[in-house]
Amino acid sequence: MLPPGHIAAGYLTAKILTSSLHYNLTATQVNELSLIGAVIGFLPDLDFFFAFAKIKRLRIDNELANHRKLFTHTPIFWLVLGLVIFFASSTDFGKVFGLVVWLSAWSHLILDSERGIMWLWPATKRFFPFTDSFYKKKYQLKYRQSESFFKYWFWVVLNGYMSLSGLVEILIIVLALIVLF
Ligand SMILES: [Zn+2]
Repeated sequence: MLPPGHIAAGYLTAKILTSSLHYNLTATQVNELSLIGAVIGFLPDLDFFFAFAKIKRLRIDNELANHRKLFTHTPIFWLVLGLVIFFASSTDFGKVFGLVVWLSAWSHLILDSERGIMWLWPATKRFFPFTDSFYKKKYQLKYRQSESFFKYWFWVVLNGYMSLSGLVEILIIVLALIVLF
């Protein structure tokens, strides 16, 4: 899934948490937590830059460097980080912040599960993909063969949206925009 979908899903997760939990939050704090949720929803994918640095190119090459093999794409990391913040906080804001860190990051990992993440790491490094047959191979081929930087990323984005996950992503973005406005 591409960044807009992850941002929207993280935002919606924070919205659900702030509206369904009985913590005392001001309207400003609810807005801050929604923004934090949106950022956290996307945050795990910053590890792409680590993968880019490793292959020394702004390209996706899962054979050489798969960013989903990094701890930043493991459920346990975000669960522990979120719970540490939750239990270390004495304020309502801090507690909800911990839950947003945990669950907005998990919204990212759930959406990434279409193509698989290491749900049971560190017990196993196995990926658990639903399927990757949603992806249109012809677009994948186009971006893999493309030498031009802009053409490459154009096909990556088009490939992302011309699939069932792309449709799901658009639905999440529309839902987030409805909630936002
Ligand atoms: Zn990701």
